[in-house]
Amino acid sequence: MKLALPVPLQDQFAREALAAWPRECCGLIEGTRQGDALRAVALHPGRNLAAAPDRFEIDPGDHLAALKAARAGGHALIGCYHSHPDGQPAPSQSDRDGAAEVDFLWLIAATDGVRCRLAGFVYRAPGFEEIVFTSAMGADLVTSSLNDLS
Ligand SMILES: [Zn+2]
Repeated sequence: MKLALPVPLQDQFAREALAAWPRECCGLIEGTRQGDALRAVALHPGRNLAAAPDRFEIDPGDHLAALKAARAGGHALIGCYHSHPDGQPAPSQSDRDGAAEVDFLWLIAATDGVRCRLAGFVYRAPGFEEIVFTSAMGADLVTSSLNDLS
């Protein structure tokens, strides 16, 4: 599985991960899927309802808003993203326990509060497979709503 993740979306994810540290940020990924090629077009941040600092639980209202936004753009929610404060850029045991939807994309940013390391996985029951980030990510994919965030 390959993922095209435009640089502005990488930057957005990193900013959210750093801002949330030492807690986890989380959100949903709007995009398209064609065969084994995933393309992210927007990241929709969600409030993290989890009480524990090393967990995430996306606010259902934010999830619904992201779903509506994706559909309005002719896209789907192809995955979720969250950060691992002072952790590894790999699925944790709770991520493995929480994964259910096959082929759903999981982006994880490990951050120490200063720097971020990004990794992506798709869930293929019973485990995760790491995805490949494709190069030549075009900035033309950035939507006007993302420009408002910067
Ligand atoms: Zn995690």
